[in-house]
Amino acid sequence: MPDSVTIALSKGRILEETLPLLQPLGIEPLEDPESSRNLVLPTTDPNVRLIIVRATDVPTYVAYGGADLGVAGKDVLMEQGGHGLYEPIDLGIARCRLMVAGRPDARLDGRRIRVATKFVNITRRHFAAQGRQVDLIKLYGSMELAPLVGLADAIVDLVDTGNTLRANGLAPLEQIADISSRLVVNKASMKLSHGTIRPLLERIEAVVAKQQNR
Ligand code: AMP
Repeated sequence: MPDSVTIALSKGRILEETLPLLQPLGIEPLEDPESSRNLVLPTTDPNVRLIIVRATDVPTYVAYGGADLGVAGKDVLMEQGGHGLYEPIDLGIARCRLMVAGRPDARLDGRRIRVATKFVNITRRHFAAQGRQVDLIKLYGSMELAPLVGLADAIVDLVDTGNTLRANGLAPLEQIADISSRLVVNKASMKLSHGTIRPLLERIEAVVAKQQNR
């Protein structure tokens, strides 16, 4: 019997954009993952199951072998370090940019500023690389609020259309990185289930290449 494979996904954009990549491989969840309360979802391939976890927990599940494969945003991998994982394929999905943003007239140079973000490690590295010292304020959501109420001079957040920033009177100020979702693989699974995981990765890579050439 072939080894079974567990794939960790998070609800929302990653799930929506990953399922069309798995569907051509004959891997489709047997129930709607967005509405189901089940966290373990069998698929049309009896050897593949999906588990639904928080986006920031995907690398942890995969690194510790709770899942063989997972799909994680580059932002999450950059923030957490991606330890214990292979990152073989850029899936090219859930694209956005990681930006420093603030009021359009914000002056970020020449003084020590306060930056609110959930990406504290990335933000610290970004400013340190430029020799700029910042005070970091860790937030878990609604970052756009921070400059409006004087909590911070700037924020670091993901920006897609820019609508959220605009709606709050903020503007993108500096780009930190282009972001897309990556396939991540447990290092032991890659070695132990070589005959299962490798061919699956090759098939996923082929689907991604085909979609990107459209
Ligand atoms: P937008 O208004 O289109 O610029 O989207 C910005 C909001 O959506 C922010 O709250 C972001 O945190 C979130 N966002 C945008 N793109 C992504 C993504 N690829 N993954 C997760 N969150 C995102």
